[in-house]
Amino acid sequence: MSERKRFISAIMEPEGQPEPAWWFAFAGDKLLVHEESARVTIPLLEDFSELHLMILRQHYLGQLEGQRCYAVEVADQIAPPVGLIFQGLRQIYGRIDEDLFWIATRAIQIVEWDKTHQFCGRCGAPMEVRKTERAKECPQCGLLHFPRLAPAIIVLIQRGRQLLLARSHRFPSGMHSVLAGFVEPGETLEEAVVREVREEVGINIKDIHYFGSQPWPFPHSLMLGFTATYDSGEITLEDPEIEEAGWFTPDNLPPLPGKISIARKLIDWFLEKQK
Ligand SMILES: [Zn+2]
Repeated sequence: MSERKRFISAIMEPEGQPEPAWWFAFAGDKLLVHEESARVTIPLLEDFSELHLMILRQHYLGQLEGQRCYAVEVADQIAPPVGLIFQGLRQIYGRIDEDLFWIATRAIQIVEWDKTHQFCGRCGAPMEVRKTERAKECPQCGLLHFPRLAPAIIVLIQRGRQLLLARSHRFPSGMHSVLAGFVEPGETLEEAVVREVREEVGINIKDIHYFGSQPWPFPHSLMLGFTATYDSGEITLEDPEIEEAGWFTPDNLPPLPGKISIARKLIDWFLEKQK
């Protein structure tokens, strides 16, 4: 999986003179970027106020090779400053430095979490930000909120030279992918894998192995990838979410998900083995 060695996460801003920092500013789910021909980059500024955009909330994220990174929330419908545009994260993948992209996915999740956890879920009091950890605390009843993460499993099932791919009605036309679903409270990851596969396509699997993980900020998932082998049963579609599912060989593949996803990394891993 992609390694992100250059970024060091932190909560407390270091002391010292201001110097140019990376500003990950979001209006809704759109990120403020410079666009130069096909490439995009993040504003690198000493002070975000240079852009004359009103900041609703700001979070320190850590450092990318010694340079500070901030997540900023600005008003939803605000017009971007001259020379900059707001873009969705999916639209900029592959056109931006990979480290900056993954910091942006972290930034949007912090901003979203902050925006949606302004009040205590238990007593309704306004929440306060903790200074020493990424958490919010209710000053009245002490309830803590940490950034929200929803673990989801994703599994590639192989049967000899075939792999199982399915289509959700939410996918772009023709696209197929491996199976995925959210982990339920009380379940191990392996139990979630077995249950999801049974619910979605009605088959039994064996030899479940961990493959790798990927943060998936749409909106706050952590994808946990597995490989498995077909054991028994016929494909039956009972989940209304799944429109089609079947076995595919490397020479007869439908349109696949983009390279950004762990789904594609699982599929590429399988295809590589068949060469
Ligand atoms: Zn409370």
